Amino acid sequence: MIEVKNLKKSYGHLDVLKQITFDVNKNDVVAVIGPSGSGKSTMLRSLVQLETIDGGSICVSGDYLVKDGVYSKPADIKNITAKMGMVFQHFNLFPHLTVKENLELAPKLVKKQAPSAIQQQSKDILEKIGLSSHANAYPSNLSGGQKQRVAIARALMMNPDILLFDEPTSALDPELTGEVLQVMKDLAKEHMTMIVVTHEMGFAKEVANRVIFMDNGEIVESGHPAELFENPQHERTKAFLNRSL
Ligand code: ATP
Ligand code: MG
Repeated sequence: MIEVKNLKKSYGHLDVLKQITFDVNKNDVVAVIGPSGSGKSTMLRSLVQLETIDGGSICVSGDYLVKDGVYSKPADIKNITAKMGMVFQHFNLFPHLTVKENLELAPKLVKKQAPSAIQQQSKDILEKIGLSSHANAYPSNLSGGQKQRVAIARALMMNPDILLFDEPTSALDPELTGEVLQVMKDLAKEHMTMIVVTHEMGFAKEVANRVIFMDNGEIVESGHPAELFENPQHERTKAFLNRSL
């Protein structure tokens, strides 16, 4: 579904992504772990064109966003990135819009769907994540966990082929992470394809079918969680896991 090849990104002299190569297949849940500054967010943001890359290729469902460092036409880029939904650490909800309005804004702007269909979809999705009673609340009146569930719901409104999460629970108090992880587990059960940058090793072990360990702008190793966590091959992976588990 996503093929990333030799992805390169630098800020000045700092090489943040050094020839990153990986694939994500349909229905995969890929957990990306690694120390702070290793390039996890930059990698994820590059996929949805929140960062411009300096080299390499990104192909989504057979369409190149960028091929050997050359970007596709803006209209094509828009269509390709529309297949991906992104959930951020700090929710990024629109504070002046209600929950329902947050969900419906983007679909109303870009989808050629009747408003009634969009409203029905937001109603269904809010019900699914257990926030129907908060449809008319503003983000400031929600807990962090509820805000993040709304952010996930908002991403789902665009019917993405894949969801990208950048540390979705890192800004939450520990007692609120569970409800967000549960929504993500439910999505995995429904075979949603996901890339999840996370410090939640328990979630990675339980839900991911592949773990990618990044360090210093490189993918050091990747594998099934049972292999990578129980039998890491590289010293850097071992050292990181020893610090994290
Ligand atoms: P964390 O776990 O702290 O979120 P990360 O693995 O997501 O870290 P990135 O945010 O991708 O790491 O950052 C990778 C490197 O790129 C870091 O050294 C960071 O300081 C640098 N960096 C990120 N964004 C910029 C920017 N806009 N300008 C300059 N350097 C940047
Ligand atoms: Mg990050």
